[in-house]
Order: sequence, then C-alpha cells, then structure tokens
Amino acid sequence: MGRIQVLAITGVGRSGSTLLEKILGQHEDFFPIGEFAMLWGEMNHDFLCNCGASFFNCDFWTQVFEQATGGFDGINADEILKIRQAVDRNYYIPLIRNPVLRTKGYQAKLSRFVDILSKIYSAIDERAGNKIILDSSKSPAYFHILSLVPNVELTIIHLVRDSRAVAYSWQKRKRMTYSVDTEQYIERQGAAEAAVKWAAKNAVTDTLKPIAENYVFIRYEDFATDPEKVTRQILKAIGKETSGLEYLMGEQAGLTETHGILGNPTPRSQKQGIQIRKDTEWHQKLSQLDKSVVTLLTLPLLAKYGYLSD
Ligand SMILES: [Zn+2]
Repeated sequence: MGRIQVLAITGVGRSGSTLLEKILGQHEDFFPIGEFAMLWGEMNHDFLCNCGASFFNCDFWTQVFEQATGGFDGINADEILKIRQAVDRNYYIPLIRNPVLRTKGYQAKLSRFVDILSKIYSAIDERAGNKIILDSSKSPAYFHILSLVPNVELTIIHLVRDSRAVAYSWQKRKRMTYSVDTEQYIERQGAAEAAVKWAAKNAVTDTLKPIAENYVFIRYEDFATDPEKVTRQILKAIGKETSGLEYLMGEQAGLTETHGILGNPTPRSQKQGIQIRKDTEWHQKLSQLDKSVVTLLTLPLLAKYGYLSD
C-alpha cells in the first residue's frame, strides 16, 4: 500500500478555512473532501455534496463506501459517531499520543475508529487518483487520530485569523447552507466565549507539530492579500511544483466542482468564481468593549502571531 497524503486544515471556526479549502481545492494536486470528520452525525439524513448531488447519490462517495465498507449499508454511522465522540476530544490528545495512558475501553474504541478511517481514507486516496487529500475537519484531536492510520502522511496547515475578526464573525447569524431542506442556523457565540475558545484551540493546534510531516502556519489576512503567494508557500512545503496557479491570477479564482462535504458549500452566486477579500468590517463594527475584551483574552497569541504590530 502506498502512502496516503493528507493536507489537514486546522483552525478556529470562522477563520476562513472554507475559502482556503476552496482555493487550494482548485489546484490539480489536491482533492478536497470538506469537513469529513463531521460525517457520522449527518448520515441519518441526506445533505448536499459540493458537486451538487446529494451525498448518497454522489458517484464519488458511493464508490468510496462501496470499496471501504461494501456500500453505505455496510456501516453503522450511529455507532461510529458514538465512538468518535468517545475518542476524538482535544483533552484526550495525551492518550492518543501515548498508548501507555489508555484504558482498555479507550484502546478498543480508538482501534475501531482508526480501522474505519484506514479503510475509508485508503478508498478516498485510490478514488482520488492518489492526489493529496485536502481535509478541512479542523479538529486537532481528529488529526492526531488520523496520524495513527498506517501510511497516512500529514501536512498540517495551521490557519489563524485575528481573534477580533473571528469574534465579530461569531456575532453574525449564519445559515447552515448544506442542509437540503430545512433552514438551520449555526449558534452564535459571545465575544468572551469566542476569545477563550480561539486561544485554547490555537494552543492545542501546536500539539500537532511533532507528528506532522510538514507544518505550515498561515494567517488568513496574508492569504486573502496574496492567495497566490501563500498557495505557493504551501506547495513548496510539501515539495510540490509551484506551477498551475494561473487560476489565482485575477481578482476572482475560478471554481470547478469538488466532492467536499459539510463545510460551507459554494453559494450559487459564487459558482462562476470566488472573490478573495480581506474582510475588515470588524474594525468598524465590533463594539469597543468587545474589542477590548477579546484583545485582552487573546493577547499573548495575538502578539506571537504578529497581530499587534500590524
Ligand atoms: Zn459529490
């Protein structure tokens, strides 16, 4: 069995990972699968794949599951969801990294989960023609577990966005656009809550450094300013040719369909191409009080990531 290369996007929600995934996903070396880790909780109803077909009717995913589990019926999604919830937690990272610390029960569940992931990622790799799998699952614990799958080689992209921009984004009402029929909205977060989560998750993401084949740190703002330069930097880090970037030359990047699932799919208005903008609305619209709270709660990392000197 050959190596399975995974480019894993990690970062706090609302950091621009969907845009990054879309832009990288257009490059011929990558095959985007969206926020795959969320799949198990969503398989009890249908939802749209980014190719426009419903998940259960998408050719790509049908073939992947046929190869991995003998079809969609060959897997009990509820069981896998329960197992994932029992093992994929950031506070379990020490157990994922160190077999000696695991209880028998934890070990059994972890082995089962790794086994399932091994079958599925092998099938994805094969069906995707051995391209680099672009996985936006974002959870550090999940990627620690994925690193236990034999032959998986992880490149981690640690995507960071200014905590104040993230906190502002969490104040806005946002629809879950992948649901097929119902209007569902993502729960909003207050500024302090968003700030605490931002600091914690970015700190946890650092634990992926030792297990990653390559580790690339990216600020969303740099990416939005010069997407071509940042894409080039990522390709370089994984030892790929930095060609094939013509689609990034204009104001708009072209878009072809992918089989990403469960992130933010492309709105109809963007089907022709995607606008890459820095989005600095928070400067004016985040209240002075919220700005101060978020700045204080995330100060050390804001400084480390260079946001205070901008
Ligand atoms: Zn599809």
